[in-house]
Amino acid sequence: MTVELDDGTRIHESRIRLQYTWWIGRTGSNFYEEIRKNRKIWGIKCPFCRVVYVPPKENCPKCFSKMHEWVELGNTGTLTTYTVVNYAIPGIQPENPPFALGIIILDRANTGLVHLLGEIDLTKIRVGMRVQAVFNEKPQGDLLDIKYFKPI
Ligand SMILES: [Zn+2]
Repeated sequence: MTVELDDGTRIHESRIRLQYTWWIGRTGSNFYEEIRKNRKIWGIKCPFCRVVYVPPKENCPKCFSKMHEWVELGNTGTLTTYTVVNYAIPGIQPENPPFALGIIILDRANTGLVHLLGEIDLTKIRVGMRVQAVFNEKPQGDLLDIKYFKPI
């Protein structure tokens, strides 16, 4: 759709689909392999800030230190925020709307993990609720090996 403004300029609205490859590196690969093979979620701790990141990163985004100290996290955490998606964008959403996405701070971690919320009444989601990871029966080696987080 194109809209002409009062000054004669135009705004063209469209959608761009981009297929891309994302190199997740050794740190990301270890993270996904642990979920796929062992159903364990690991974070990584900065040696200076002491912040535990999940998903793990090779370098601390605050102080840029290399991080090597892996921390096994539980499968449970606290929902810190969420949104309910009602609009369909075919081909790029992990589920058909309506569905919920949340940011979960896993126990022993300091940063949030964005993920789907499942087995949940979309009208009863609340910030601060405790949630637990449900693993996918057929893991593929990506973040959807955690199928979703459900209330506990
Ligand atoms: Zn740091």
